[in-house]
Amino acid sequence: MQGETEYARDPQEVVMKRKGGAEGRAMTGACEKCGTKMFRILWKK
Ligand SMILES: [Zn+2]
Repeated sequence: MQGETEYARDPQEVVMKRKGGAEGRAMTGACEKCGTKMFRILWKK
């Protein structure tokens, strides 16, 4: 994770529940470049 746009090698989408009952989605996976675990939140605006 060096600040460039990186893509997860094996992405998985997860659904998270937030306080107040709202749901948000996130992507988890390992960086295809360096193998660092990634966790990217996909909250809707
Ligand atoms: Zn990386």
